[in-house]
Amino acid sequence: MISMKSVQKHFGDLHVLRDIDLEVPTGQVVIVLGPSGSGKSTLCRTINRLEPIDSGTIAIDGKELPAEGRALAALRADVGMVFQSFNLFAHKTILENVMLGPMKVRKKSKGEAKARATELLERVGIANQADKYPAQLSGGQQQRVAIARALAMNPKVMLFDEPTSALDPEMVSEVLEVMISLAKEGMTMLVVTHEMGFARRAGNRVLFMADGLIVEDTDPETFFTAPATDRAKDFLGKIL
Ligand code: ATP
Ligand code: MG
Repeated sequence: MISMKSVQKHFGDLHVLRDIDLEVPTGQVVIVLGPSGSGKSTLCRTINRLEPIDSGTIAIDGKELPAEGRALAALRADVGMVFQSFNLFAHKTILENVMLGPMKVRKKSKGEAKARATELLERVGIANQADKYPAQLSGGQQQRVAIARALAMNPKVMLFDEPTSALDPEMVSEVLEVMISLAKEGMTMLVVTHEMGFARRAGNRVLFMADGLIVEDTDPETFFTAPATDRAKDFLGKIL
């Protein structure tokens, strides 16, 4: 589903992704862990070409991502992304936020887009907020809208970059529950998160990154109970 081969990425002199090879099969939920600056966000951002890569290839569902152009826009729509900041359009209602992508990119009619958006808002538990504006919602609610908005494009893959880090503690679980239900339904997911309970419950695989390398690639149970490297032991010592 996601296939990265020999991906290299520099920011100036900084080698941020070092020859990354990664195959994520359909339906797998991959948790990405690692210290600050290890390249987790950059990895996510290269997968939908928000960040260009220096060399290597990235394919989604067998289709290699072109560097730019119309084909990129179409393929990018297959990769939903949810960030730490919700990035909703402030001057559009919740419903409009979810309808916009399908109408602009997928060329759906207004009626179709509205029906699907309503269904998705119900699914993430905020159908009753549809006519409000983002600023009128809590952080947890806004993040659930952001997830609904990404899902409205019918993505093949969902990327999450610390989706709960900016939330007040009492709102974390309502967002994680939505993600757990997505995982159960078989969505292919790559999730950067420090939520270890979520990682153990929903993750099929853990990637531990350090200095632009995937240092460990294993199942959550093995990673949390018997990490193989000192880097991972040190990291777990700090967060657990
Ligand atoms: P965190 O846990 O703090 O979010 P991360 O693992 O997501 O860290 P990245 O954001 O991928 O790390 O950054 C990897 C390295 O690349 C860091 O040293 C960062 O400072 C650098 N970096 C990231 N984005 C840019 C950019 N646009 N320009 C220059 N350097 C960047
Ligand atoms: Mg990051």
